[in-house]
Amino acid sequence: MRQSQAMPETVVVIGAGICGVSTAIWLQRAGHRVTLIDRAAPGAGASYGNAGLMAQWALVPVSTPGLIRTGLKYLADPGSPLFLQWRRLPEMLPWLAQFSLRANDRDTRHTAQALLPLVGDSVDQHRALAAGTGAEKWLQDSDVSFAYPTRAAFDADHYSWALREEAGLRPEIVEGAKVQEAEPILGDAIRCLAVLRGHGHIADPGAYVTALARGFEGIGGHIVRADVKDVQIENGQIAAVDTDAGRFACGRAVLAAGIHSRPLMRKLGLKVPLIAERGYHLMFRNPSQMPRNPMMMTTGKFAVTPMQGGLRCAGTVEFSHPDAPPSPKPLRLLRRHAARAFPGLRHDAVEEWVGSRPSTPDSLPFIGEIGATGIFAAFGHQHVGLTAGPKTGRWVAGLISGQPPNTDLSPYDPCRYG
Ligand SMILES: Cc1cc2nc3c(=O)[nH]c(=O)nc-3n(C[C@H](O)[C@H](O)[C@H](O)COP(=O)(O)OP(=O)(O)OC[C@H]3O[C@@H](n4cnc5c(N)ncnc54)[C@H](O)[C@@H]3O)c2cc1C
Repeated sequence: MRQSQAMPETVVVIGAGICGVSTAIWLQRAGHRVTLIDRAAPGAGASYGNAGLMAQWALVPVSTPGLIRTGLKYLADPGSPLFLQWRRLPEMLPWLAQFSLRANDRDTRHTAQALLPLVGDSVDQHRALAAGTGAEKWLQDSDVSFAYPTRAAFDADHYSWALREEAGLRPEIVEGAKVQEAEPILGDAIRCLAVLRGHGHIADPGAYVTALARGFEGIGGHIVRADVKDVQIENGQIAAVDTDAGRFACGRAVLAAGIHSRPLMRKLGLKVPLIAERGYHLMFRNPSQMPRNPMMMTTGKFAVTPMQGGLRCAGTVEFSHPDAPPSPKPLRLLRRHAARAFPGLRHDAVEEWVGSRPSTPDSLPFIGEIGATGIFAAFGHQHVGLTAGPKTGRWVAGLISGQPPNTDLSPYDPCRYG
């Protein structure tokens, strides 16, 4: 790794989601001159509407052994949480093929091992990131429960639990009537909880990222509202970032534009396999009941999180274009599953939201310098961007400051797909 040539650097960070804001804060703290550019307000992308989980346990990718059989079953079942816009199949086929080919034990373990250092200490990383910014108030300590219809359904999930247990994550099992004692909001459809103690969630992810961005400005960082169109390379090195509001000269740049990083990578001649795994949320305002802790509902594959603004159910996977209008089916499905899991829930208005998880075939993000261009990748975090954003920002800031982390970053190499 080349050491930074001169300190401090002038750095442009593209994208003010959790990954960009986190990188900007750590760079500014390290003494660099940082401009954070976003075409929208900070925290308005995928970082706005996620389930808010600091998912330290989320090291098992979606592509586990058996995925092809389950995936085909799901696609044939209109009541499953997997949706595909069939007319987009041809453009998605190469990605889906690479993703499916990884549904074996060796590749799953490779991904799990590489995700662990990114997600394993997320709560501590968020506390360190938020310290002194005013965003601390959104961080909540909590347990997380995986809710199953039966004990047999939990037992059938043994592959994922074995991988988590190897990483030291052993659940406590709650069964029968004790389930409703632990989480009174749950109806009889849930008869088994696998509880992991000592995790955390964010009570309003959008407000949290906004508060972090204000904290960044508070320590001298600049935020610019502009659409990034291109990057200027001179002698193989980044020289400026071009936007609809003008050119920003810089010695380093960070690409943290979530799902929209792909077209900007194309400007560098790199075709990264990044796809929108869209997810939806329903936010039940003024709910009559709240879960005591966040839960992962294994039927319907969605998360339930007690938030400042209400009860949020977030999940489903829809392979679609990031800018396509929301589809009614995933939202209907979420409503149906929520009504079944929480039969006593009453509420006022319901907010509906769709966002794009920026996903790679190996379920690992792109983190690190793109060749020797002085442009650093910080995107592609699929289902765990909120969890892994603070660590990503810290690592990228360390690389730019000539202080690379004591972790093997090769699994996240932005050029690993050529
Ligand atoms: C339903 C759902 C639930 C989820 N739940 C969780 C969870 O509980 N825990 C978890 O860890 N993760 C979760 N995720 C995943 C997580 O939300 C994402 O991985 C994460 O938000 C990605 O952050 P980001 O900073 O990379 O991208 P984003 O938050 O999307 O930010 C990218 C930013 O770049 C800007 N941008 C893009 N292009 C340009 C351009 N050309 N010029 C200027 N600006 C640009 C955008 O405006 C945007 O603000 C969930 C995702 C979904 C959809």
